[in-house]
Amino acid sequence: MKFEYTEYHKKASDEELIADLKSTAALLHTASLSMQEYDQNGTFSSSVISRRFGTWNNALKIAELDYRNRKFSDIELFENIENVWMKLGKQPTRRDMNNTLISNISSGAYLRRFTKWSNALKSFVAFVNEQEKEFLAAPSNETTHKTKRDINLRMRFIVMQRDNFKCCACGASPAKDPSVELHIDHIYPWAKGGETTLDNLQTLCSKCNLGKSDIL
Ligand SMILES: [Zn+2]
Repeated sequence: MKFEYTEYHKKASDEELIADLKSTAALLHTASLSMQEYDQNGTFSSSVISRRFGTWNNALKIAELDYRNRKFSDIELFENIENVWMKLGKQPTRRDMNNTLISNISSGAYLRRFTKWSNALKSFVAFVNEQEKEFLAAPSNETTHKTKRDINLRMRFIVMQRDNFKCCACGASPAKDPSVELHIDHIYPWAKGGETTLDNLQTLCSKCNLGKSDIL
């Protein structure tokens, strides 16, 4: 009989992932955890956990760890700007970042990294614009697709901004109704050969997105 490595992270339940975050933080005697610290000491991988809970911060929040005062990577800082921007439907102010109802990272973390809030916004905009060249020429391993299925942070932002942070089907927006969640949808489903390109992507609220599924 051959002894084989079993890939277990895919099967790990949400509870197991959260429990591992807690025990890893306890092991390191810290009230918070960076992705790097977790990758060096945890059982699973930080990317698996981030994906499962939406963001790394969300996972920390659920594990009751300190998520507002740790060191953030640029990607995490940008992800949070995007999220707040989406919720407001417009460019956030420094004060918006301190509203705990909409922002998971305080303005202090941005000032530590970028000195001024305006610099943080400029860096975010530069980051989003940089993407364009990258994803238009995106190489892919897929034989039937020219693009990857995944919609990354920058692309998501470009599509939401183009669609004015509103659902293209019903017009709902988080700025008007905080319970609205926006998703990016492949107009022609990826599973049916649709590509991850700006003209095949649209912003939908979670309700309209669920109603649509992969049916054309
Ligand atoms: Zn909708």
